[in-house]
Amino acid sequence: MQPDTPVTYVKGIGPKRAEVLEKTGITTFLELLYHFPRRYLDRRTIMPIAKLKIGSEATIVAKVLSMNMVRTRKRSYFQLLVGDDSGQLRCVWFNGAKYIQKIFKPGDAVAMSGRVEFYGGLQFVHPDYDILESDDYATLHTARIIPLYPSSMELKKVGLDSRGFRRQFHKIFETLPWQVTEIIPREILERLKFYDINRALRQIHFPDSATELDRAVRRFKFEELFFLQLLLAVKRRSIKEVRKQLRYDRTGVHLKRIYEKLPFELTDAQKRVIHEIWNDMKSETVMNRLLQGDVGSGKTAVALLCASIAIGNGYQAAVMAPTEILAEQHFRNLHQMGKPAGITVRLLIGGQKRSEREQILAEIENGVAELIVGTHAIIQESVAFQKLALVIIDEQHRFGVLQRSQLIEKGINPDVLVMTATPIPRTLSMTLYGDMDVSVLDELPARKGKITTRIVNIDQLDRVYEYIRGRIQRGEQAYIVYPLIEESAKLDLQAAIQGFEYLRDRVFADFRLALVHGGMKTTEKDKIMHCFSNGTVDILVSTTVIEVGVDNPNATIMVIENAERFGLTQIHQLRGRIGRGEKNGVCVLVERKRNEASHQRLRIISDTTDGFEISEQDLKLRGPGEFYGTRQHGFPKMKIADLLIDKELLKLARSEAFMLIKADPHLRRAEYSGTREHLVRKYSEYMNFVDVL
Ligand code: ADP
Ligand code: MG
Repeated sequence: MQPDTPVTYVKGIGPKRAEVLEKTGITTFLELLYHFPRRYLDRRTIMPIAKLKIGSEATIVAKVLSMNMVRTRKRSYFQLLVGDDSGQLRCVWFNGAKYIQKIFKPGDAVAMSGRVEFYGGLQFVHPDYDILESDDYATLHTARIIPLYPSSMELKKVGLDSRGFRRQFHKIFETLPWQVTEIIPREILERLKFYDINRALRQIHFPDSATELDRAVRRFKFEELFFLQLLLAVKRRSIKEVRKQLRYDRTGVHLKRIYEKLPFELTDAQKRVIHEIWNDMKSETVMNRLLQGDVGSGKTAVALLCASIAIGNGYQAAVMAPTEILAEQHFRNLHQMGKPAGITVRLLIGGQKRSEREQILAEIENGVAELIVGTHAIIQESVAFQKLALVIIDEQHRFGVLQRSQLIEKGINPDVLVMTATPIPRTLSMTLYGDMDVSVLDELPARKGKITTRIVNIDQLDRVYEYIRGRIQRGEQAYIVYPLIEESAKLDLQAAIQGFEYLRDRVFADFRLALVHGGMKTTEKDKIMHCFSNGTVDILVSTTVIEVGVDNPNATIMVIENAERFGLTQIHQLRGRIGRGEKNGVCVLVERKRNEASHQRLRIISDTTDGFEISEQDLKLRGPGEFYGTRQHGFPKMKIADLLIDKELLKLARSEAFMLIKADPHLRRAEYSGTREHLVRKYSEYMNFVDVL
């Protein structure tokens, strides 16, 4: 058997099973072998019913004694009474009773896992269950660890339920004299003392002991992380292989002129990061760098100073923002800050007059425009640059919109700096941005104004509004933000509009309020934002995060409605908008639906202002899904490794993978052929044409 032998060659897998397996992504022998147990029954982890502790998670092995539907006036449910030598326990299903009912029959040996509750007796509600064969039941009393396999309705129909898989794998391991090719380089396995693939496969399916199982799992976790990092190492190498056409030998006069006229002293972090970027710019290979910096850490100044180096050397630079409003803000700021060096800054966005646009396009092409500001469209559309050397992407909290391959396809390969305001925990940036070099602005400029964050409930709203009135009367301004969650965008928008009308007509009738939301035309939004910036609007009501991404140092108050519906990082970003001037800012989180979990989350945000700390906590609470979603650029989902838990293995996998690619960039050596083949076989869909091995 070879790794890519079709499953149909496996004894016991006919065309029907093969068809269903294919739907779950299993077509080859190796893929079948990687259908790992989802859990195990180990004699030592099974609890006798009499010893169960209320509130704990536990697994029992017992016999079905009786089963029946119970109908009360309120609801009906299915109950199953099971018992072992020590006692009895009730299992209850409120949902899916019809289906569950058909699964069990009295006398069945079952394994049940769940949270132990007490309700007139011990019970599990909606436990995780498996039906055991009589010989499983027997073997559990000897020392075996029994694997339980994930399955689905369709798989069950062709006999591949947990038991079916167990039989199938048993057959494979007991009867076939096979060996699969190792995919991790031998030297790594030996040095780090990981199990080889054949031993690990056997032990993960049919562990001889808990220790053997741990070793097997460890190997597969490492393997998964290792290939992920290998993929990233290859991507990074393919970028680094590109030689620059443009050369820098000095920082140029522009940098000095702008630096000297800055209204503030750069923080040490800003200086350090500029040096890191400058080193990349000087290097012979192109830059692919991520700059992480909390809201207010001063990324714009860094961007401008780096752009001024490029421009001082006779090249062009581009700054791209995720929205037109932000592009305009960058344009104004950069234009202002770039004046001492006489830099020609041009804004390119939709909605400009045709003649104006043509003029700008011509200037970009003939080189008059030195710094071009716009949205991502400037790189995607047919804009011809004369000598584009540096692209700076201000992503705010949105990632991965632009990929380097898009640039290369356009026939240009500038240095790329991606700036993000979401502090990404290190474990995640190692994968999400594992193909980039990372700089961190870990110091905030000293500010006069401080931000306090308060959680309030609706009963306290009147007092909050009263407080806001007072501050507006003193000439300050406020934001009121409503959630807009994609799945329920329509309802959310309605709620925001109603909230706005209520505030305008009832609460703040004597002030000037305006509403801005994502569904509005850009010109309309711009007009409103402009009114807020110049003070003709006192309170800006808005829906999405993007719309408030604009600076207004006079805005000191932010009310976040239904705060429990926002992500922590999102709230942190939002509140970074206030307290930018000299006065103290106040962020009020209105908690409308209180539950313990969401309240805990909001407490985190009111207790700390450190963006890294917050995202670390957010990650713990919500898992990495949210963060993955933010980078559209696909990369493989982890099946067995957990990026949060397996941090040490991740670091190890990363250093091994990067070392390997450094030693043999294309994995051409004979001893790496298994590794290379596996990478191509399994991960080619995550590579693009520039990443060729
Ligand atoms: P962000 O990193 O969120 O993009 P900005 O670049 O918009 O932050 O900077 C936020 C504010 O801080 C701006 O008003 C900017 O002028 C100011 N700023 C930037 N660097 C410094 C500094 N070193 N000292 C004082 N203020 C600074
Ligand atoms: Mg910014």
